[in-house]
Amino acid sequence: MMRVSDKQYKQLLDIQKAFEWEGVKLDSLLKEMKEQEEEDEQPTEPIEVPVEPTGKKIAICVGHSRSGDNGAVNTDGVSEHTYNGQIAHNLSQKLSSHGIESKVFDYYEGSGYGSAMSWIGDQVKKYDADIAIELHFNSASPSAAGYEYLYWHSSSSSKALADSLLKAQEEKTPQMKNRGIKSKTSSDRGSGFLSKTHCPSVITEPYFGSNKEETIYYRDKTILEDIYTKGIINYFAR
Ligand SMILES: [Zn+2]
Repeated sequence: MMRVSDKQYKQLLDIQKAFEWEGVKLDSLLKEMKEQEEEDEQPTEPIEVPVEPTGKKIAICVGHSRSGDNGAVNTDGVSEHTYNGQIAHNLSQKLSSHGIESKVFDYYEGSGYGSAMSWIGDQVKKYDADIAIELHFNSASPSAAGYEYLYWHSSSSSKALADSLLKAQEEKTPQMKNRGIKSKTSSDRGSGFLSKTHCPSVITEPYFGSNKEETIYYRDKTILEDIYTKGIINYFAR
């Protein structure tokens, strides 16, 4: 026999009375009590897992950020500067969730192309960026299609970065045309960003804004944000 104190005995009597013990199935009673307990539970706050900082810094530069230059316009009527400005800020958020610091440059000083490129080169250096990317989209005939990444011909790290971004896009959009990575020299138009940056750098040309199907496909900007995020992470992990 279990020994109970007077106090416990009184409590058991109270319980018996309260539940009209006879005819009550103990398991269903316990189940009911448990369900009640679960209902009473406060919703738990999502646990914030601290992200380990990688110590890496990315300059996210938006092409055509010079005053008066908005770049090409896609078939939706959206300029490169507007389109990529939104991607730049979202990309910055995504990178930070992977412990990668970044800064968006969506306004370049300088009156002409050359002075703007020198200015952004200086800013990227001041920021002490590990890598820099400049966001664009291509424009040509309506049938031109596909993605390509441009790098400075003599920089093997820039080539590796271009390759990493290309592979990330190939993985994410295997149905699109892969135009490869392209090396640029000072005689190539629009290569200023690549030559003026002190760190590995790449110009992204993820699709043709002059191509209606591609423009519609990339209305969902998360596609490119995810591609760039993956490409950058893989570059540092190589
Ligand atoms: Zn452009």
